[in-house]
Amino acid sequence: MRKITIAKGDGIGPEIMDATLKILKAAGAQIETEEIEVGEKVYLSGNTAGISKESWEVIRRNKIFLKAPITTPQGGGYKSLNVTTRKFLGLYANIRPCMSLYPFVPTKHPVMDIVIIRENEEDLYAGIEHQQTDEVVQCLKLISRPGCEKIVRYAFEYAKQYGRKKVTCFTKDNIMKQTDGLFHKVFDEIAAEYPEIINEHWIVDIGAAKLADTPEMFDVIVMPNLYGDILSDVAAQIAGSVGLAGSANIGEECAMFEAIHGSAPRMVKDSANPSGLLEGAVMMLNHIGQTEVAEKIHNAWLKTIESGIHTKDLYREGSSIKRVGTAEFAEAVIANLGQLPETLKQVNYEKNRSIQLPKYQRAAPAQKTLVGVDLFLDYKGLNANELADDVKKLEKNSIILTMITNRGIKVWPEGFEETFCTDHWRCRFKTSNGSPFSNQAILDLMQRAIDTGFEVIKTENLYQFAGKDAYSLGQGQ
Ligand code: NAD
Repeated sequence: MRKITIAKGDGIGPEIMDATLKILKAAGAQIETEEIEVGEKVYLSGNTAGISKESWEVIRRNKIFLKAPITTPQGGGYKSLNVTTRKFLGLYANIRPCMSLYPFVPTKHPVMDIVIIRENEEDLYAGIEHQQTDEVVQCLKLISRPGCEKIVRYAFEYAKQYGRKKVTCFTKDNIMKQTDGLFHKVFDEIAAEYPEIINEHWIVDIGAAKLADTPEMFDVIVMPNLYGDILSDVAAQIAGSVGLAGSANIGEECAMFEAIHGSAPRMVKDSANPSGLLEGAVMMLNHIGQTEVAEKIHNAWLKTIESGIHTKDLYREGSSIKRVGTAEFAEAVIANLGQLPETLKQVNYEKNRSIQLPKYQRAAPAQKTLVGVDLFLDYKGLNANELADDVKKLEKNSIILTMITNRGIKVWPEGFEETFCTDHWRCRFKTSNGSPFSNQAILDLMQRAIDTGFEVIKTENLYQFAGKDAYSLGQGQ
């Protein structure tokens, strides 16, 4: 018996959770549930996180969490429980299978069968945002080597365990050479360890277009957080419906399984489709090694869909046979336990689907050399040449101004008059002879800038790692 935490959530949550648990029990899942309360009631009792300290303890103790959707109240500074749970528990991988159920569920993509593996913790979701000037705000995009290694390795291990042939990586490394560049580099490094699996990389814009147009050309796709967030919804929708998809959030210690849709608070009672949460539960059973039960439930569910027993969202006059409520749909799946689909492809889960990754090994640090600094200024003038004349007065000894950019575009030297400028300027200082910079030189430079009346909003150190420049140039440089 494996103890798991469950939360029935809000809106349609309790109905779809009850339906899912009934199917799991009837199929012989060896689980014991411990229920916690999360969501709307907890938020409205004054807890802005939507979860109590005691509930965290239960989740951490049981390690496996099956969660129904919750309602996040509008306004009032309530934090998304999903984002908090993923980050606190280190659930670095979000897995979303998207398979079409044609002809039983209408779709333009009848042979689509893909799995999106999304990095779940970092990227622009680090939540580090600042307003720096009247006109400019920033959000830091953080990508780490351990973050990339874990998610990319997970994608290849997943492909291996589930008999998938190809892993595709989407990034925008033609623009974000450091951040997405690292993700792509790690992808290439790890792909080389799996010669039996085809690997490929697409720039995310054309990759997304291909995914929406010809999803059958993909198998497993791994992506940084933001692209994965957007494209996994696109993939679920074009497969047939977001209402059918489940997702797994996997960490080294804990894992959370859920439907990808929300709590649909306005839905009529006993009309919701429990399939998304049921798919999440099937992933959970695979994760905890109960693969036979997972297979039995998945095949019975496919059989139910193809026998035309449909909830309101899937029901079509002509192609469906019977329109049922949430509870009756669950009964139909239970009645089909042990049966296989005839038209839809049956699933075959071999034993031991749990994916064990090696612990991240930090490499020996590379030689790191400070070679300059970017000084960011809030400056209300509009003329880059005038700013350069003033900033050049900060030069001292071998420290010289080498470039000014505005929103990343080089405006000095040799800028274009046509370039639109805001009040957010980056002034790059290096040494004229290429010798290293020092922290003291940065402090002295800032002091001179402040004494001269400049408003310094931040600095960024410029480093070389192993002798290679590790920072972006100005666009146009
Ligand atoms: P939603 O996914 O709850 O509902 C959108 C529409 O999709 C519904 O009106 C309904 O027509 C359909 N739908 C959703 N699930 C269905 C199901 N199982 N069966 C049949 N039809 C289904 O999205 P929303 O209306 O934007 O959000 C409602 C609430 O859910 C909000 O408070 C939001 O914050 C929350 N939410 C929670 C989660 C989560 O807990 N994981 C995820 C998304 C949204």
